[in-house]
Amino acid sequence: MKVPLLDLKAQYHTIRDEVLAATRELYETQRFILGPEVEKLEERVARYCQTEYAVGVSSGTDALLISLMAAGIGPGDEVITTPYTFFATVGSIVRVGATPVFVDIREDTYNIDPKAIIDKITKLTKAIMPVHLYGQCCDMAPILELAHAHDIVVIEDAAQAIGSEYKGRRAGSMGDMGCFSFFPSKNLGAFGDGGMVTTSSGMLYEKLRILRVHGSEPKYYHKVIGGNFRLDALQAAIVLVKLSYLDQWTSARRANAGLYRELFSKEGMDDVIGLPVEKNGRHIYNQFVIVVQSRRDELRGFLNESGIGTEVYYPVPMHLQPCFEYLDAEKGDFPKAEAAAEKTLALPIYAELTDEQQAYIVQKIKAFYLS
Ligand SMILES: *Cc1c(COP(=O)(O)O)cnc(C)c1O
Repeated sequence: MKVPLLDLKAQYHTIRDEVLAATRELYETQRFILGPEVEKLEERVARYCQTEYAVGVSSGTDALLISLMAAGIGPGDEVITTPYTFFATVGSIVRVGATPVFVDIREDTYNIDPKAIIDKITKLTKAIMPVHLYGQCCDMAPILELAHAHDIVVIEDAAQAIGSEYKGRRAGSMGDMGCFSFFPSKNLGAFGDGGMVTTSSGMLYEKLRILRVHGSEPKYYHKVIGGNFRLDALQAAIVLVKLSYLDQWTSARRANAGLYRELFSKEGMDDVIGLPVEKNGRHIYNQFVIVVQSRRDELRGFLNESGIGTEVYYPVPMHLQPCFEYLDAEKGDFPKAEAAAEKTLALPIYAELTDEQQAYIVQKIKAFYLS
């Protein structure tokens, strides 16, 4: 049996006709940059994410970058974030000239530990960038409280978390801005790169729109320096089709997570495999990440030989990346992030995964540890 980590072809086959129809219209208009599809997607995503506004951008990375720019963050400023994230979170902080300040994660959710943030706040702290990792929101109440008390901007990295909820609030609606990615492997993926920034601030919305087109307002007049952060109409048209299916796909992912729990438990694996912990609301399972106490890489190799795709998100925490050596962090500084990097493994969780495939995966993991 073959089980890839993600099977985008299986998803495409279910929406092929709609996608082809939606894009065919655009070929006839030959209008590919921004335009009505992008505006329609912005309205839909804003509503979906419980915000007033949304601004379509060129990628999740650019969503982070433009949000930092809109918040006026730059050299001399500190931005608090997690070392256990995709590179773009920290890369974008450095690209605007600010200094990333790391706070370790909670070992149950892999998200930033709100209790540890207070010790890292200085008079230079301008923003907190919580990352809703794997599709589960950070514990936002204490983060928002701290941010409010210290007049700090909150930019949510919600690239893995569209539709994820914290106490009834959607990811991207709790901070000043929320950053989303339409990278194909995200729960709402385009056929290429794309992203979105959500906000309920009219002022930030205006700034984001201007920064997206090189800071131009009106056209060819520049009071600020922005970039080309535009979303393609083609990507917007495709994402619009997919957005109608998102809740259905999320339900399927959640059902798959439930089946993994049942199967691991039935096979007596509760003490061997740590399963994702759901806290405070709807987990959308961009990834289903297990934690093992030993031989993670060997397990990964064994599953690979058995035709099962897995991935490690992420093998090297940001404070140990060579390009961030100048931040002077050392091994041991963020032990929970380091432990997660060594012991976690993402299993297939995509909506079209079958019960038989899941049973096969669980059987193979059992065979590896218990035989
Ligand atoms: C995917 C991702 C990004 C970047 O999104 P791109 O669209 O690939 O640029 C940023 N942060 C996190 C946590 C991500 O998972």
